[in-house]
Amino acid sequence: MKIILFDIDGTLIKAGGAGARALNFAVEAMTGHPEACKSVQLQGATDKANFENAFKAGAGRKPTAKQLAALTQKYVDRLPLEVLASVKAKKYFKVKGVEKFLVKLSGRKDVLVGLGTGNLKDGAFIKLEPSGLLKHFAFGGYGCDSHHRSEVLQKAVERAAKIAKAEVKQREVFVIGDTHRDVEAAKEAGYHSGAVLDGFGDPRLLMRSNPELIAKDFSDMKPWLIWLGLEKDPKGVSRGTYICPDSPIEHAHYGRTGTDLRDIEVGMKRLREAKKKITG
Ligand SMILES: [Mg+2]
Repeated sequence: MKIILFDIDGTLIKAGGAGARALNFAVEAMTGHPEACKSVQLQGATDKANFENAFKAGAGRKPTAKQLAALTQKYVDRLPLEVLASVKAKKYFKVKGVEKFLVKLSGRKDVLVGLGTGNLKDGAFIKLEPSGLLKHFAFGGYGCDSHHRSEVLQKAVERAAKIAKAEVKQREVFVIGDTHRDVEAAKEAGYHSGAVLDGFGDPRLLMRSNPELIAKDFSDMKPWLIWLGLEKDPKGVSRGTYICPDSPIEHAHYGRTGTDLRDIEVGMKRLREAKKKITG
């Protein structure tokens, strides 16, 4: 059984800043401070951490447990309105190719698709609602499970194991996100990591976090399916086998999936033919 965990913001959808607006609204209602999110780096962190930091930005001190609960409630109450505003303003998008990809994955019996997100469970469902993608997710790990993303992912895997009624090995778990924090959390938990470049992540940090696969989005499913081990590599290269590159740069570039080996082969053939012509 393969477990595939998707981050939400920037990986499945872009909600046009609905989350930040709802949090700003909630913080202003409690502290009088508008735009608290301006000074908080929201992307890739869990809601729990974001709420604390935003409150701190507004009030100048950490919230009590009671205040945090009130802030959370205000956020969840406000979020549907802000998501709707994004939809109306045509600022709500699905990430390219993700719907087809999910349909393909959901059709398989050897795969369980879930959420691995920093969003609170309620927030996750509200944000995904207009996308129509919710039906593909049988379970998830959420921002309400933990402050730490890696624990959120582990929680998701725990729930997947219950559904599958089987033990899940770390190497059977694949995490797909859009920021370096998704990648780092996956690595921390011992899972595979893949990333979309077209989300909200800082491309430099994302590259440096070195996920096993980086793709712009899901418009070309092939690399994703090969990475997941659901389709064969065109050259028959399987995971864990060593491909001997000529240089460290080739190693970094070709070593990810092996899908470009065909290009090397074609290049080598041309070189050999050219050499033959010269040497006879
Ligand atoms: Mg994200």
